[in-house]
Amino acid sequence: MDAQDFRRLGYQLVDWIADYREGLERLPVMSRVQPGEIRAAFPDHPPQHGGRMDQALAALERDVLPGITHWNHPSFFAYFPSNTSYSSILGDLAASGLGVQGMSWQTSPAATEVEEVVMDWLRQMVGLSPAFTGVIHDTASTATFTALLCAREKASGFAQDGEGLQSGEAPLVVYASDQGHSSIEKAALLAGFGRSFLRLVPTDENHAIRIDLLQAAIEKDLDIGLRPCALVAAVGTTGTTALDPVAAMADLAEQHGLWLHVDAALAGTAMVLPECRWMWAGVERADSLVFNPHKWMGVGFDLSAYYVRDPQHLIRVMSTNPSYLRTAQDGQVSNFRDWHIQLGRRFRALKLWFYLMDVGVEGLQARLRRDLENAQWLKEQVDATPDWERLAPVPLQTVCLRHLAPGLDETALATHNLAIARRINEGGKAYLTPSILKGTQMLRVSIGAESTERRHVEQLWTALQLASQSG
Ligand SMILES: *Cc1c(COP(=O)(O)O)cnc(C)c1O
Repeated sequence: MDAQDFRRLGYQLVDWIADYREGLERLPVMSRVQPGEIRAAFPDHPPQHGGRMDQALAALERDVLPGITHWNHPSFFAYFPSNTSYSSILGDLAASGLGVQGMSWQTSPAATEVEEVVMDWLRQMVGLSPAFTGVIHDTASTATFTALLCAREKASGFAQDGEGLQSGEAPLVVYASDQGHSSIEKAALLAGFGRSFLRLVPTDENHAIRIDLLQAAIEKDLDIGLRPCALVAAVGTTGTTALDPVAAMADLAEQHGLWLHVDAALAGTAMVLPECRWMWAGVERADSLVFNPHKWMGVGFDLSAYYVRDPQHLIRVMSTNPSYLRTAQDGQVSNFRDWHIQLGRRFRALKLWFYLMDVGVEGLQARLRRDLENAQWLKEQVDATPDWERLAPVPLQTVCLRHLAPGLDETALATHNLAIARRINEGGKAYLTPSILKGTQMLRVSIGAESTERRHVEQLWTALQLASQSG
């Protein structure tokens, strides 16, 4: 492809994306294809001759689009909002156009310095003090894994420089709530703690960690000669957006010399609103925290913001310094390859920068407030309607509910609510996630797609009531 074809096809693709976005509301939210259907539309063998980009663009519409579940659809209420705003798409395009590897400052100084600037802007936006320094990770899963590696190395006095986990010292223990994200469990296992030394502490009626039980677990482990190492606080759990008491966890961390990591993957974005910051009170005492601008904020996947209090510790855990990566500026600049697991890195900061330049802090705040109000509206409808039950508080944009059809026992209620979810999702007009909360089948409505207005939430509520009556 030459530059002329790139221009022609590129303009065509931008038009296609804009048409797609404008027409989203007419498409079924959840893809309706059967397993294997998309694969079957593709040839079994790679093209021997090139020059087929026009065919590829046509096939994108014809063969790929049917297999897309539309995360940017205004009636997407499943999982979590994963907004990819137009400006962040352009930022991604610019990053690919520049084709940069930003592993060291010298490999493209702008990639490092723009990231430093926008991560500091983001820090200010969520009300964190300058004691925190940020770096972009691909996902919260990777950031939480990194945090547990840092915790492990701190507690073990850098065992990685010697015998690592083979040194036979007393086992290290990690604590999180039983509502914590699966990425915490994965991180603890991958970091070598072992499932036997991961404590998933029960939660209270609001689904936040029970501090008394956490404290008891730590004390019991100390009594039997184990070494408590790290606490992971969930600010906004995946199930219900429950809020672990960060300040009380920070007290325990301080008392016992533990690492405190805050997982605010979804909820961190809410902290752009000063009125939400009580939700993570105590966060200033964390050692590390992660949140995902690629969820509710509007910056396209993937972009996780990882903040640490002690970058030097992170660098010591993460860096390897082979001669071919050393540069003359190493003492004066950040080499972000040493701030995470992978070496190569994309210029992700561009999409965050473009996005912030596009919406501004006030524009983002207005949208987040709209989403919070939409969630409160739905909460009020559920609370005011007989035979509907709300299963968790609604501090943010997620509403957990179920229909209590009269005369049904728990097993039948679970089947009934699963059927409601199936009718909604297969109907194509909206998409939500059926999920299980401590044994109870619920319908989880996660509000906050960029295009979701009140009328879409109203339509969902009407559809839920209809679906609860049919069948
Ligand atoms: C989504 C989510 C994660 C995982 O995020 P990835 O960026 O996909 O790894 C972790 N924790 C919480 C609370 C989440 O909501």
